[in-house]
Amino acid sequence: MIVGLVVLGGAQARAGTHSAEPALEQAFDSGIDVQEQSRWLRQLSSAPNHVGSPHDRANAERVLGLLRSWGWTARMETFSVLYPTPLRTTLEMIAPERVVLGGQEQPVPGDDSTTDLSQALPPYFAFQSDGDVTGALIYVNYGMPADYAELERRDIDVRGKVVIARYGGGWRGLKVKLAQEHGAIGCVVYSDPAEDGFARGDTYPTGGWRPPEGVQRGSVADTSLYPGDPLTPGLASTPGAIRLTRETAPTIMKIPALPISYADASKLLQRLAGPPTPTAWRGALPFTYHFGSADGVRVHLAVVSDWSQKTLYDVIGEIRGSTAPDQWVVRGNHRDAWVFGASDPLAGQTALLGEAKAIGGLLKSGWRPARTILYASWDGEEPGLVGSTEWVEAHLSELRSKAVLYVNTDSMGRGFLSYAGSPELTHFLNDVAADIPDPEVPASLLARQRAHLLVQRFEGEPVGRGLEGAARQGGDLPIGALGAGSDFVAFLEHAGVPTVDIGFSGEDSKRGSYHSAYDTYQHYVKFVDPGLLYVNTLSRVVGRIVLRYAGAPTLPARFADLAVEIKTCAGEVEDLLKDQQSSDTALDRLLESGMFRVAADPTQVRTAPQRPRPAEAVDLSDLDAAADELLTAAQAYDRAADLSTRLEDSQVKRLNELLSNIDQLLLSEAGLPGRPWYRNLLFAPGWLTGYDAKTLPGIREAVEERHYDVARTNTAIAATAVRAYAIRLREATSVLVPARPGKPNR
Ligand SMILES: [Zn+2]
Repeated sequence: MIVGLVVLGGAQARAGTHSAEPALEQAFDSGIDVQEQSRWLRQLSSAPNHVGSPHDRANAERVLGLLRSWGWTARMETFSVLYPTPLRTTLEMIAPERVVLGGQEQPVPGDDSTTDLSQALPPYFAFQSDGDVTGALIYVNYGMPADYAELERRDIDVRGKVVIARYGGGWRGLKVKLAQEHGAIGCVVYSDPAEDGFARGDTYPTGGWRPPEGVQRGSVADTSLYPGDPLTPGLASTPGAIRLTRETAPTIMKIPALPISYADASKLLQRLAGPPTPTAWRGALPFTYHFGSADGVRVHLAVVSDWSQKTLYDVIGEIRGSTAPDQWVVRGNHRDAWVFGASDPLAGQTALLGEAKAIGGLLKSGWRPARTILYASWDGEEPGLVGSTEWVEAHLSELRSKAVLYVNTDSMGRGFLSYAGSPELTHFLNDVAADIPDPEVPASLLARQRAHLLVQRFEGEPVGRGLEGAARQGGDLPIGALGAGSDFVAFLEHAGVPTVDIGFSGEDSKRGSYHSAYDTYQHYVKFVDPGLLYVNTLSRVVGRIVLRYAGAPTLPARFADLAVEIKTCAGEVEDLLKDQQSSDTALDRLLESGMFRVAADPTQVRTAPQRPRPAEAVDLSDLDAAADELLTAAQAYDRAADLSTRLEDSQVKRLNELLSNIDQLLLSEAGLPGRPWYRNLLFAPGWLTGYDAKTLPGIREAVEERHYDVARTNTAIAATAVRAYAIRLREATSVLVPARPGKPNR
């Protein structure tokens, strides 16, 4: 019998096709009601939704009830996790004059969500360390490694002082971590208007950008080491789990830290003395930025928190697959927010609900997916991806053998579709994007993406790697690489599940309300996605991904894109090695001839840079050869999959055995150097960048930090994994193109 007739309602079972079924997808679309989505968003974002808040819990019950009413088997999975909430936050300038700063944001005229903020937590950083410190204030720009190198050249020492950094340039948690590593006793981070305030556009409520009082809250846990509950790395936070203590948990910071607004930061920054900063360190505030000095501005910073365990409520809906129940398509979006969270995350949650209801409608008409579909409404994303990470840790072995895809969405905007994740999904996602019209412009989502890239490039704006060529040539637009920043991390980087993260952005001002009390329903429908047109479109995109992936007889992945990605990344590391060599040579020449001394302004302190550990060669040819082998094997598989027509049951079964967990071959059981929780040899968040992806992280970061032996060892590990992947693909190809009977297999 030919598998696929049952599952696909008449479509032929072809290996690796995505099996779009227009009638099914039309029925799905007609099950999504944008008015209803608006009502859900208004309701879900009507009160503060931080972890432990009554409304976040009520929303969990609401989502659970809705899923059940639509025919899903749904359950609540709870975890007990460490989650500090602020009891008292203090920030005051004590010299040259006394000014009280910080505290809750102010109501905004016309936005009734913000009228009563008594149930909202004040601006704070989750997983800073409580403390009470007083010291001189020093401005450190973005507070990234290059900024501290510059301070050192100027003989400015932050030891024993409080630093003030601006948002941008790298992840917020690194700002606190690097401050403490450099000996600072406290850290303040503010939103410069250059980043997301008046320098970008009109501020709320006139426009959507960050008003002077807006503060970006956030987690500063060191999630580049491991995300989730800081007390239970690698283990689910069940009530009886073995726990670290607050003192021994390495992801909790050791100094007090607070986020502040630019209204408050202005009062501090404009009084700073010391030399003026370089131009690149200046934001958009209307005065000259200075470094600060030991005898200038002094601040008092204190934080007291309630460090009790809190309960997380993950809601999981399930539809059991009819023919392949042990293959899971998982889709998630978090539900907790810093305050109301209309854009981040509830617009994404609203898209998820729209899909779940429409899928429920299909169920009622008798349809069943071939594979099992799981829908997850995560709790505790904001403090460090806690709800999703604990869930993945609780179900790790099952996920590693059963999950074939994880689809993530999070905060939502308006504009252009973007997706990032596992390269073997590239072609599949391009096909989905080509099938869905933009809600505002008469073009497909893919055509808009392509036009946007080409116009951007023409106008001189940088576009992502490989995107320009692909846009010009009309081929598939490549998928971006994933680092961190949302609930996909544990799936992709710990469990090795093929993953995609999707959203719309580019034509909104959602960054202006990001993690503030102003991320409200009113802000959202006025300045982010009026009419929820893009929320509705996101439901269609994700719905198609889920329906096609759950319905295809064999998985729709195409692997040549993965091989090309590995080759490209290896080439980037080779370029980095060459750059290190030439930069060392240039620096040596300048140092030996005393050029820094001669070029320096004698009225200022600025010494020559330190000579780094000398660059060495690392031979990447074995990895490159392995990637070539993979490319050949992948092209053969992709071609065979495209040409294959009718598959026998036994072929489908064998292909699924070979390919449904093929990405497990890209995991290292020992993990990445210095951070064993992260196991994916291809993707990780950067140690010293945060959210941004590092591809081939074990090799690339070792080179960046000039630990060349580590880079060599990790090159060999990656090459072995890539070869194993090629072997598996060749086996899969031989299932599609068996040796012809009666003829010797050449
Ligand atoms: Zn979010």
